[in-house]
Amino acid sequence: MNFAFAPEEEAFLEDFRGFLAKEKCRPDADIIFAPWRETDSWLVDSPERRAFMKRLAEAGYIGMSWDKEFGGREMPGVYDYLLNEQLSSDGAPIIGKGVGCIGKTLIAHGNEALKRRFLPQILAADIEFALGYSEPSAGSDLASLRLRAERDGDEWVLNGQKMWTTSAHFADWYWVAARTDTEVPKHKGISVFIVPMDHPGLTVREIKTMGDHRTNEVFFDNVRVPAEFLVGEENAGWRYVCEALDYERFSLYTVGPLLLKFEALVELAKLVHSNGIPLSKDPVVRDQIAGFAIEVEMATMLQRRVIAKASKGEVPTVEAAMYKFYSTALGRRIANFGMDCLGPLGLLSHEAPGAPFEGRWELSDRATVVDTIGGGSSEVQKNIVARRGLGLVTDA
Ligand SMILES: Cc1cc2nc3c(=O)[nH]c(=O)nc-3n(C[C@H](O)[C@H](O)[C@H](O)COP(=O)(O)OP(=O)(O)OC[C@H]3O[C@@H](n4cnc5c(N)ncnc54)[C@H](O)[C@@H]3O)c2cc1C
Repeated sequence: MNFAFAPEEEAFLEDFRGFLAKEKCRPDADIIFAPWRETDSWLVDSPERRAFMKRLAEAGYIGMSWDKEFGGREMPGVYDYLLNEQLSSDGAPIIGKGVGCIGKTLIAHGNEALKRRFLPQILAADIEFALGYSEPSAGSDLASLRLRAERDGDEWVLNGQKMWTTSAHFADWYWVAARTDTEVPKHKGISVFIVPMDHPGLTVREIKTMGDHRTNEVFFDNVRVPAEFLVGEENAGWRYVCEALDYERFSLYTVGPLLLKFEALVELAKLVHSNGIPLSKDPVVRDQIAGFAIEVEMATMLQRRVIAKASKGEVPTVEAAMYKFYSTALGRRIANFGMDCLGPLGLLSHEAPGAPFEGRWELSDRATVVDTIGGGSSEVQKNIVARRGLGLVTDA
């Protein structure tokens, strides 16, 4: 049994850290590297962020695990994870939906026209995608989605509403799950489409979450797309959505920010005093923080199990659910404890003058709640463990 990375993987990391060290010397580094990631990273667009992604692409770091035939380097998937972990540990934007969920699904299931059109643009970091799954009455029960897609000659016409679409306000393309057959069981009548985000039939409206993230609701009014913008087979979309969500659960929820948050908590305990004594000397605080140290290690190991399985080419559904559940719940408890350590002042938001640590712990406390919902709520992750991992089905 060996928990360490192989020497060639360590060498890759060393090399990549060198790349990032140069990036950190740039004048716009403060915008790219935001250590308190819940307010930044993949959710926020900026010309600086896009330029950074392009530099990553030019250096060959995007799509490393893709086949050479599609412009990749055929490196084992573990390198993508190492890359994302290092990026998130530095508070930098991570490689997200395009190269992971969408690119991999297109390679596996997309028609030739879609592959030719989108794969090179994804590899070059020229385009951004938004993921359109959730709807007002279809979140956890995603298969109940109702946004309708009907065939009309050489086109598909989409009508309905999506909810919680992060990045819809700046993405170039929309990856949309829609109902194409209403007569079959709900999982069997879903298809996936790619839609240009600037289509005049789309209306995007902002929703601000309690974690200060922006997300959106999106309305479709006779949105017409060419027939070849259907991904894979008609009515086979549920499978593609599930595969992409498995990928999302471990690629977008990296463990790096959790480690950063924990390290910040240890520092906080040394810096903050209560009755003239540093919190780090308080037995209750020490007990709590030591407990978190053990749990952070557990989260890291749960994530290694995801990587180990994915590296063997298997889909780590149960492992990813366990990791997502555990790491996001832990992030929430660490943030909450950090805020408690600051006493009543810890409740001041980052806009309030005099807020300790510029209100970051209070913001973190709110933002980490959101992590336990996006990409499938904690209850849904436990349902996956019960059903897929333990065979505890409810509808046998
Ligand atoms: C910040 C943010 C960004 C997001 N970004 C995107 C995005 O880009 N694209 C996208 O498509 N979606 C996105 N989502 C949507 C996200 O995936 C859904 O919010 C999530 O799946 C939960 O769905 P819901 O909000 O409809 O809640 P519901 O499904 O209505 O659930 C409400 C509550 O009931 C619980 N519950 C529901 N069903 C069960 C069950 N069977 N057993 C036990 N408990 C249950 C849930 O756990 C939850 O606590 C985002 C959400 C957030 C908060």
